[in-house]
Amino acid sequence: MHAHGDPFESTDPATGEVVAIVASSTPEDVDAAVHAARSAADTSVWGSSGELRASVLYGFAQLLRADEQRLAELLTREQGKTIHESLIEIRGSAKMTEYYAGLARAVYGRSAVLGPNVTGVVLREPAGVVAVITPWNWPLTLLVRSLAPALAAGNATVVKPASITPAITIAALALLAQQPGLPDGVLTCVLGPGGIVGDALVGHDHVDMVAFTGETETGVRVMKRAAEGLRKVALELGGKAPNLVFADAKLDKAIAGAENAIFTTCGQICTAGSRLLAEDAVYDEVLERLAAVTNGLRVGDGLDPSSQLGPVASRAQRDKVLEYVARGRAEGTIVAGGAALEGDPYDAGCFVSPTIVADLPSDSILLRDEIFGPVLTVQRFSDEAEAVELANATEYGLAAGLWTQNLDRAWRVARAIKAGTIWINTYHHFYDEAEVGGYKRSGIGRQQGLEGLLEFTETKHLNFDGNDTLW
Ligand code: NDP
Repeated sequence: MHAHGDPFESTDPATGEVVAIVASSTPEDVDAAVHAARSAADTSVWGSSGELRASVLYGFAQLLRADEQRLAELLTREQGKTIHESLIEIRGSAKMTEYYAGLARAVYGRSAVLGPNVTGVVLREPAGVVAVITPWNWPLTLLVRSLAPALAAGNATVVKPASITPAITIAALALLAQQPGLPDGVLTCVLGPGGIVGDALVGHDHVDMVAFTGETETGVRVMKRAAEGLRKVALELGGKAPNLVFADAKLDKAIAGAENAIFTTCGQICTAGSRLLAEDAVYDEVLERLAAVTNGLRVGDGLDPSSQLGPVASRAQRDKVLEYVARGRAEGTIVAGGAALEGDPYDAGCFVSPTIVADLPSDSILLRDEIFGPVLTVQRFSDEAEAVELANATEYGLAAGLWTQNLDRAWRVARAIKAGTIWINTYHHFYDEAEVGGYKRSGIGRQQGLEGLLEFTETKHLNFDGNDTLW
């Protein structure tokens, strides 16, 4: 940890109580963290011992599992999500770390006979020093999704967590740092405002690569800053996923799926199915049934096991979401929810009722912007062509869902939608083995799977020529 600057607080969005007070990093701290990482990348055994990397990552995963209850409570208190979801996040993070622990021993290149007496060997080398910058919505999963493959590939890392969720990140990194054999400098951390501390990190001469997860506009800034040093970037950015319900879908499943798609993490998830598109013949039924489900959701402190939605993560996020809801009321029809939740116990926290908005004009900002809150828009379509057109009418391309029993249509529509993940008759199922990432303004590069690890490597061609003459 390199942090000797001014203190800042993280607070519980359900109660307003202080969860942690941590120090920001100074410019000297950022410099020291990056130099420690540089030295580890250049001189330690980390990059050349897959066995060591596998054992450190596997050990970390076991500590996450052993400590899941404490970590889940801390995550809920700091981020607001329900305790049920926090446990899913901790367990999923352990599982993903184990996946990359396995791959740590399988990072190697290839060889080829390139001519008479000429052999090529293409090595896979670590990228070097990797800055890992994370958001606050799934702070542990999205940390592990970059950090585990970066470490598995043999890099030294400097982590900069979101300022809303420093405590859960520090708690997890402390478990990783305990692992026997982890060389000094391979794992360092800086804290504090992204525009200052994150910017200094991205602009540092000794950073070779930046793995950033966050908003698209921030990603653009990060990319421009990284370009000054021609640093490699992997960007996982925003989304505005369409979720298409065709008239032949199994409606019970589609409606449950639509609810999960938008209200997971109170809508604060990049893959949120935030634009529901329903075919004319079932539009009224889908809307009515989904509104009933939505109005019945229990919103409360995430630590209360009966809560189905927690608060949004901060007061600023709550205010931003409520502005969109007000715009929705002015431009369309509020079909469910549509208010800040007030009175005891809501006043102390950042609660928003889960909301559905219909009848919006096609140029509504609610159909364009990533709201990142529990707000679902609903539109109707009359045929497959219109469904695809509406689905693709976004600058984002992270994910989409579609519900139909017609297999031919499922393949056709899935191929036509421009997004990195398409769920068919399901939603929000992630697999460590399967790559995720964005088309269009949703990102650059892929995470998870083997590709997610190879992002953190460089190739080097060694060419052996056994012939006596040069040409
Ligand atoms: P932000 O873009 O605001 O912040 C992300 C991280 O970047 C934080 O650590 C932040 O620090 C830091 N940061 C901010 N400005 C800079 C800068 N100029 N240079 C370097 N770092 C900077 O996103 P949020 O934290 O608000 O997260 C929500 C967003 O993340 C949503 O848009 C969501 O879609 C996206 N996301 C994308 C995912 C994907 O896989 N595609 C997954 C999950 C979320 P600080 O907190 O101090 O501001």
